[in-house]
Amino acid sequence: MNEYDSSRLVESLVASHGYKSTSTPENASLLLLNTCSVREKAQEKVFSQLGRWRKWKMDNPELMIGVGGCVASQEGESILKRAPYVDFVFGPQTYHRVGDMVQQSINSRRPSIDITFPEIEKFDCLPPRRVDGPRAFVSIMEGCSKYCSFCVVPYTRGEEYSRSFDSVITEIYELAEQGVREITLLGQNVNAYRTVDYLGRLVDFATLLKYVKEIDGIGRIRYTTSHPLEFTDALAKAHQEIPSLAQHVHLPVQSGSNEVLARMKRRYTRENYLDIIANLRSHCPEISISSDFIVGFPGETESDFQDTLDLIDEVGFDHSFSFLYSPRPGTPAAEYKDDAPVTEKKRRLSVLQNRISTHASQISASMLNSTQNVLVEGVSKRRPNEICGRTENNRVVNFEGSKKYIGQFVDVRITMNMPNSLRGMIINSNSQELQINWIVQSR
Ligand code: SAM
Repeated sequence: MNEYDSSRLVESLVASHGYKSTSTPENASLLLLNTCSVREKAQEKVFSQLGRWRKWKMDNPELMIGVGGCVASQEGESILKRAPYVDFVFGPQTYHRVGDMVQQSINSRRPSIDITFPEIEKFDCLPPRRVDGPRAFVSIMEGCSKYCSFCVVPYTRGEEYSRSFDSVITEIYELAEQGVREITLLGQNVNAYRTVDYLGRLVDFATLLKYVKEIDGIGRIRYTTSHPLEFTDALAKAHQEIPSLAQHVHLPVQSGSNEVLARMKRRYTRENYLDIIANLRSHCPEISISSDFIVGFPGETESDFQDTLDLIDEVGFDHSFSFLYSPRPGTPAAEYKDDAPVTEKKRRLSVLQNRISTHASQISASMLNSTQNVLVEGVSKRRPNEICGRTENNRVVNFEGSKKYIGQFVDVRITMNMPNSLRGMIINSNSQELQINWIVQSR
């Protein structure tokens, strides 16, 4: 989400104020830090980065420094107190105003701050997208109204709101025209998307997917992050009905223990979660499932932790994200009694990560000799004479092939599985060039 926000912010500054991005930040006239506060570590990094920039500002007093995102939203004024050389502070919902904020700070020579959640959507104020490459993110909803006891997002990004149907479809259409072939629909709880179309009919997330699949050029649709409470039967069926919808779902569970889930205020049980997975697999037996886990939540016992490990085995999760619980100021869980030693929490995290890696390696091994549809993204990192792309379950595959395939889907047979990637060989391509050859030969 932050990557998407940063790229939109840059596009907006380029289009409206004539800025250019640079690869040498020490020479920049404007430095922007887009921050995340979901865990403490990310928050700590903000001030150490600002400390480095302070030296540059001492050498060049004209340099403008802006801090945005969730730390800005949470800390507000106190950023200016702790780092008085910062010129302006903006929140996740006001980044479309940054160009004006820079101008205002230059003119007034005083810091400014705007961390409001304005009624008018920022999306209406942002310029059309300009992308390079076959994959792009599209934010469709923002904020969160679930108020899990550990999570800071509702306080920093505001409550859930969905972007208008028209603007989402227009953005994807424009991206497809620029050569984008894979879209990842983004949201804190992307499947909570709910709006109306131009006739006032309800468009929920599953309905939106049906419209997106009709857009010419979009050959693969992904979405992240979905929430179990919003995982409807229609969405499970969409995975069967929409061939371009990737056979992969990232569905955060956080814990396998009902006691912990209740204290997290997730409002579902382990059994509810397993029902969702069973329903999805009844429609798509091969679908890959990944998740988020929080380890060491206050009061988590060894038996709670075992419940999580059992759930991992039962579902057979693919590559997933796992985090040590990090108390966030202002959230209910930050007040919970938490007496497990950090060393024990770290041990549990490492056990959990090993368990997930074992499953992920088994899934990679089971892909050997299978044929995977791969969107070719570019030249391989290690071998410049090879190209690479991703499978539906998000594995990087490297293979020999011409650069002309970049931006196209090809069928690749998997010949080798490595810890972090796969190798393969092209067996078929949907490229126009090959299709034309084939027509010529068959005549
Ligand atoms: N909205 C999704 C949901 O709750 O199902 C997830 C979005 S959240 C911004 C991304 C992930 O960060 C969460 O799934 C959770 O695992 C992790 N996370 C959030 N707050 C955390 C905290 N206080 N400590 C550790 N991890 C946290």
